[in-house]
Amino acid sequence: MADSRFDLVVIGGGPGGYVAAIRAAQLGMSVACVEKRDRLGGTCLNIGCIPSKALLQSSEKYEEAQHTLAAHGVKLKSVELDLATMMARKDKVVDDLTKGVGFLFKKNKVVHIQGEGRITGPTQVTVNATGNGAGAAQTIDTKTILIATGSESTPLPGVEIDEKAIVSSTGALGLDKVPEHFVVVGGGYIGLEMGSVWRRLGSAVTVIEFLDRITPGLDAEIGRQLQRALGKQGFQFKLSTKVTKAQKTNKGITLTVEPAAGGAAETIKCDVVLVAIGRRPYADKLGAKEVGVAFDDKGRIKTDGHFRTSVPSIYAIGDVIAGPMLAHKAEEEGVAATEFMAGQKPHVNYDAIPAVVYTWPEVASVGKTEEELKAAGVAYKVGKFPFSANARARCNADTEGMVKMIADAKTDRVLGCHIIGPDAGTMIAELALAIEFSASSEDIARTCHAHPTLNEAVKEAALAVAGRTLNL
Ligand SMILES: Cc1cc2nc3c(=O)[nH]c(=O)nc-3n(C[C@H](O)[C@H](O)[C@H](O)COP(=O)(O)OP(=O)(O)OC[C@H]3O[C@@H](n4cnc5c(N)ncnc54)[C@H](O)[C@@H]3O)c2cc1C
Repeated sequence: MADSRFDLVVIGGGPGGYVAAIRAAQLGMSVACVEKRDRLGGTCLNIGCIPSKALLQSSEKYEEAQHTLAAHGVKLKSVELDLATMMARKDKVVDDLTKGVGFLFKKNKVVHIQGEGRITGPTQVTVNATGNGAGAAQTIDTKTILIATGSESTPLPGVEIDEKAIVSSTGALGLDKVPEHFVVVGGGYIGLEMGSVWRRLGSAVTVIEFLDRITPGLDAEIGRQLQRALGKQGFQFKLSTKVTKAQKTNKGITLTVEPAAGGAAETIKCDVVLVAIGRRPYADKLGAKEVGVAFDDKGRIKTDGHFRTSVPSIYAIGDVIAGPMLAHKAEEEGVAATEFMAGQKPHVNYDAIPAVVYTWPEVASVGKTEEELKAAGVAYKVGKFPFSANARARCNADTEGMVKMIADAKTDRVLGCHIIGPDAGTMIAELALAIEFSASSEDIARTCHAHPTLNEAVKEAALAVAGRTLNL
């Protein structure tokens, strides 16, 4: 006999799982959300998006105080780093937001069960309590199960994480002193963001990347501009290079690296190394395979267009299935999956999911890159507009970067937009909406944009698609 019964049990309280649980409750389902961590919010709120952005914000203020405020006529006698306060502020932001999810659960009558969930039948979840009362087990019967167990850092062979000197992003978010030399293995967005934090706080930063470019998913032209911008800030890049060994010495870490294509090895000394070579789906000890849930060759749970797995009563969303590993993608899927369960007909448009790198300048992208369109043989037009010609960027003294808009050569429909520049992550929302509503570049060019705003650069890029910019 089960201890309790629900319409839906969600396993995982990250952005995918908690949003799905709330939406399901709104749709009238009785819902439990099982989370093994002592706090809700998953990777994103606890050890991902939120703490990293809190530190990016604080470190940017430190850098401004040191280097850029004087140009605005604001002179400081001395600037001092209080790392402990910076870390405590970050922890408080995380604490407040994770508690907020608990409040939302109460408001929506979602039952929060703290423990590790295991699927013990197509409609049964067994939970081993974690935290207070650890060890106690309960069995829950449910009509439907939603797997939202997320992802974990991909390990690098030969490099063992201790979260002190050899860290994953989790350790990099909580260092208690500024490293002299901070080496990042992996030129993706997590490595570049954490590298930015520690460079601003005083570290020398080296990024080692296996490929011949950083941020491989980005439009190549924008990726090159980002590398140039970070290089000017002091980042060192070693591309087409692989790390084969990390050895701890009493003076720090000695990394052995060699050319990706093979060749002579060399060593690099540093005091902290961050392994950020990607993330892999996390479905360990879940019992999903045992009940017949199929996985693909990358360890991701296979789903159909309705987020249903190969077991009809079990759904999956977020980082544990295919697609970009992003919090907002997990959320959209969580909402859609529960609406499918309720018999509705939602749709997730994967062409309209923005991706942001929160370095400075920021990079934000939505839709297709030039490389993708070339590979697909699609004829397209490009319009570009630099922030150096945007009045607000000049007022802000933040003129690095550009907006690059790509539209279909025949229909003028916007196919992609890639921004490198100030607040690109906020600006990209306009383009996600444009793609969602199948807007043309002409539609954007004819939409009145407030002056002076950074978004006027989007309008000018749209005008540039037709070769008629007004301010360049
Ligand atoms: C440093 C860093 C920075 C990031 N920055 C961003 C960003 O700026 N923007 C962005 O969109 N994305 C960012 N991400 C990615 C983002 O965090 C993930 O895409 C997102 O959290 C995925 O959501 P999810 O709900 O699928 O899984 P998760 O957030 O990983 O949540 C899964 C939850 O399931 C729990 N769980 C797992 N197994 C069980 C079990 N058997 N029983 C109970 N609970 C279980 C886990 O404890 C976890 O809390 C970042 C990630 C990292 C690491």
